[in-house]
Amino acid sequence: MDSVVSRLEAVKANMAAAAAEAGRTAGEVSLVAVSKTFDADEIRPVLTAGQRVFGENRVQEAESKWPGLRVEFEGIELHLIGPLQSNKAREAVALFDVIETVDREKIAKELAREMAKQDRHPRLYVQVNTGEEPQKAGVGPREAVEFVQRCRDVHGLAIEGLMCIPPLDENPGPHFALLEKLARQAGVEKLSMGMSGDYETAIAFGATSVRVGSAIFGTREQVHSTPVSRSRQ
Ligand SMILES: *Cc1c(COP(=O)(O)O)cnc(C)c1O
Repeated sequence: MDSVVSRLEAVKANMAAAAAEAGRTAGEVSLVAVSKTFDADEIRPVLTAGQRVFGENRVQEAESKWPGLRVEFEGIELHLIGPLQSNKAREAVALFDVIETVDREKIAKELAREMAKQDRHPRLYVQVNTGEEPQKAGVGPREAVEFVQRCRDVHGLAIEGLMCIPPLDENPGPHFALLEKLARQAGVEKLSMGMSGDYETAIAFGATSVRVGSAIFGTREQVHSTPVSRSRQ
């Protein structure tokens, strides 16, 4: 049976196996189920199966699905994994529990302002463009540690983790290793890395959360994916 729920269970089993292989416990790695492009009816079975942590890459799309689902299901944790425009900071702070894509001064400043104003404090990750790809969001690896420090010292933002999306055509291992090293240097604990094609590798390199979409929900329509996201279709 190739249902969304059986694929969810298979991903979780693979994660546990990868953790064990790396001498880690399954509880050390959390699954962010990436539900972008899928509607509430397609997400509901995954919620019913017990999954509570989800990732979306667009603020507006997330706003159209999740407030309703939060009425139906308790304990949902929503991650923003796509680029954030500063004019969407208000909505992002109001809706998301974790924002994984802090990557420039202006966003840090807007988030700090909105968090104070709304008295809502989503956890924050800095996105690092480990491959230094011009079309991809994220701070460069050489700027990452200083940027984390500036978020703390200048904007009063506690950065909990780092996130990366390695180049599609490269072996992801070195990118995961680089992110882990930068996190140690910056003094942050969480590592969001690994997608459908490489989450087991990411777990071997220390991922504390993996962002898995198509391996659970199935192939996305190309037309819906953003150019900055790395999709494997
Ligand atoms: C779409 C997306 C994912 C999930 O990708 P899959 O290959 O479908 O697992 C993970 N992270 C980010 C940032 C994404 O945009």
